Amino acid sequence: MLVNIKDLDLTELEEWLISQGMPRYRGVQIFQWIHKHRVRSYDRMTNLPKGLREDLKAEAPLFWPRVIQEQVSAVDGTQKLLLELEDGERIETVLIPHKYGNSICVSSQVGCALACSFCATGISGFKRNLTVAEMVDQVLSFAEPVSSIVMMGMGEPLLNLENVLKFLAIIHNEHGFGIGYRHMTISTAGIPPGIRRLADTGLPITLAISLHAPNDRLRSELMPINKKYPISSVLDAADYYAAQTGRRYTLEYVLIDDVNDRAELARELVRLAKGRLCHVNLIPLNTMAEKNFERSRDKKVETFSKVLESGGIPVTVRREMGSDIDAACGQLRSRMEVEALGEE
Ligand code: SF4
Repeated sequence: MLVNIKDLDLTELEEWLISQGMPRYRGVQIFQWIHKHRVRSYDRMTNLPKGLREDLKAEAPLFWPRVIQEQVSAVDGTQKLLLELEDGERIETVLIPHKYGNSICVSSQVGCALACSFCATGISGFKRNLTVAEMVDQVLSFAEPVSSIVMMGMGEPLLNLENVLKFLAIIHNEHGFGIGYRHMTISTAGIPPGIRRLADTGLPITLAISLHAPNDRLRSELMPINKKYPISSVLDAADYYAAQTGRRYTLEYVLIDDVNDRAELARELVRLAKGRLCHVNLIPLNTMAEKNFERSRDKKVETFSKVLESGGIPVTVRREMGSDIDAACGQLRSRMEVEALGEE
């Protein structure tokens, strides 16, 4: 059976090589070529004997996703790629330059089942989980150095946790990207069993919870998953995460004009966050044409943030990235689909 070696962590790669009658030490060499030197063909793996390269081509052919569209923000250099996978499905991945290095926003699923009302990915529903290789491919699609990974693209990472953890282990491996777990973030809509499983791994990954509303009534309107997992159950799991890992978690709060940006909601959020090992990250929404949602006015962002601060809650306001290139994840793909529908 053919193997995709980008699905394998180093140990599995070594075991597979041994099962094929090849020496174990070739594993590190191949792993380095793919993940450190980012070569795209076995022919470029010059320290492998020619016979081995031919065997690999036959037994583990390399597939690379096609870049369908590339957008680069003129404002901040954010790059966004729309990739076509082997089965024709499309996903997107975003590289965000920061002062401290580049961060890659990785998708974990094709589409998403959770249908949050402010998210373009939710519009087309869930198609399938991404494989480990398809997540690795997103990182390998950029030529730039990478210093952090955020699982904040399309899909709910905790509903594909096994593959996500293996992907992160590959990116963590010293023979590849060598990125520390502290520089990795998993962002979730709030799936308590997944949060607890993640906590039990003991890995110092940063956990970000998409909260977006301080009470169940409003949150259920914005995020239907809240009907299954209300705020208290999500925060209980997040507190367990903080207790297990000793790490502060983030409450993400997208500010949408006249929907969830009133000062009284900020006061409610203070009561919710008080005494928890967390901080709040406010994100002014990228305006979405499809949904009639607009970005909160600057004045309201400021007031909301001040209420939190004076309530003793650590708060940051995330700089908008790539607002000129639809960089709220899911928007590029859905725009392409809308355009494609228009052409039919
Ligand atoms: S915000 Fe995240 S969890 Fe919600 S629909 Fe979009 S991709 Fe899914």
